[in-house]
Amino acid sequence: MHVVALPDRIDVVVVGGGVSGASTAYFLGRLGLDVLVLERRDDVGTLTTPRSFGSLRTQFGSRALIELATEGVDFYRSATDHFDAADAAALDFRQPGYLYLTPEPDHVARLAAALDEYVALGISSSTLLDRDELHDRFPLAAGGAVAGIHHAEGGWIDPAAVTGAFVRAAEATGRATFVAGTAVTALLRGAGGAVTGVATSGGVVATDRVVDCAGPFANELLGALPEPLPITSTPRYRAFLPCDVDGLTDAPFTINTANGAYWRPVDGGLWISHANVADRPREPLHEVQVPGDFVVDTLAMLAPVSPFLADLAGTPPSEVVAVGGQPCYTPDDAPLIGAVDEVPGLWVDVGHWAGVMLAPGSGRLTAELVAGVRDEADNPFRPGRFADGPVEKSSTNKFGGWG
Ligand SMILES: Cc1cc2nc3c(=O)[nH]c(=O)nc-3n(C[C@H](O)[C@H](O)[C@H](O)COP(=O)(O)OP(=O)(O)OC[C@H]3O[C@@H](n4cnc5c(N)ncnc54)[C@H](O)[C@@H]3O)c2cc1C
Repeated sequence: MHVVALPDRIDVVVVGGGVSGASTAYFLGRLGLDVLVLERRDDVGTLTTPRSFGSLRTQFGSRALIELATEGVDFYRSATDHFDAADAAALDFRQPGYLYLTPEPDHVARLAAALDEYVALGISSSTLLDRDELHDRFPLAAGGAVAGIHHAEGGWIDPAAVTGAFVRAAEATGRATFVAGTAVTALLRGAGGAVTGVATSGGVVATDRVVDCAGPFANELLGALPEPLPITSTPRYRAFLPCDVDGLTDAPFTINTANGAYWRPVDGGLWISHANVADRPREPLHEVQVPGDFVVDTLAMLAPVSPFLADLAGTPPSEVVAVGGQPCYTPDDAPLIGAVDEVPGLWVDVGHWAGVMLAPGSGRLTAELVAGVRDEADNPFRPGRFADGPVEKSSTNKFGGWG
């Protein structure tokens, strides 16, 4: 990332240096294409990606997403196959599972029914646990729950480390160059509307292939489309609270399915969040402000299943670190990956609300489509798929809650 002068021409320009752009560049490099990734912020991996929980799971409502998410878990589990030893270690892959809990007896039948739906989709790594089993196996996380599902494939990586790992792996292919502090300001198009290059804050770069990986800003460059891509971006927040109670470091990713609040351990304490139904989509934001009542509200939502968290309500605000970002959503909650039909030479890898866990698969798929080694007809994430008819939500979890 020390290049200042931009090349006059390149095989592929990737717009955006979050985890999606970095993963796409890695796989493009492996396919032998020269790729330039342009990031307008001062450094790559500084917008949405590092503010995430970095959580991974394989439960989704469609087989295509299950396959993409499973590819992500397998990739991060065997990170040394792709990243150098230091980057693989920094990812800190852990797999203590996801624990979907309910404090409400009325919800148990709903959890059991959702589990059956996942089993029918071929996901057999989840188990329904009653109160005694929960309290025996997860005394800290599940102290207030009456029932829960443990999804053994669930886990997490460090979201602050993942983009850099992909960047260095991409550079190691000898084909990828990352330039931060340089904004793509326009797509340049020629005969038939086909892409001929990009205008940037550092000059023009000629190319006949551009991949939009701009996260919440995905539509900014696409003014030429008759309709913007169907993406919304909704503020979500994460707060770190210091904590050192016994058993914390081994706890799973824990969700109160009654209200969508969740937490997981992290070095020196834990991260908490909830998918507040009051949060509505917003225009893309460069900085997301965290509401003042976020920490108190989230702890109150989590305490019914994990009562030890009530004690953290008195944490001095000076010890709490809260951040916000904007995951993106689409009409079926699955990402948009592939060619934009209206603009020859333009591909997207956007619309991610779970972009960290999906990045290995989405980057690989995007690169294969751009390189022409995979046919768009085989691509279930085509951006144009909504013209095919009514859509179903396929990726939010069936147990309740957002995580
Ligand atoms: C609180 C929270 C919790 C989350 N938890 C999880 C989780 O547990 N697991 C999970 O998988 N996901 C989670 N997510 C979602 C995840 O963070 C995103 O889906 C993912 O980071 C998207 O990555 P991206 O590369 O597509 O976008 P971004 O990280 O937003 O990167 C896009 C980049 O494009 C750049 N850019 C935009 N326009 C231009 C331009 N014109 N020129 C140059 N550069 C441009 C931006 O500056 C930015 O760096 C969470 C998100 C939040 C906020």
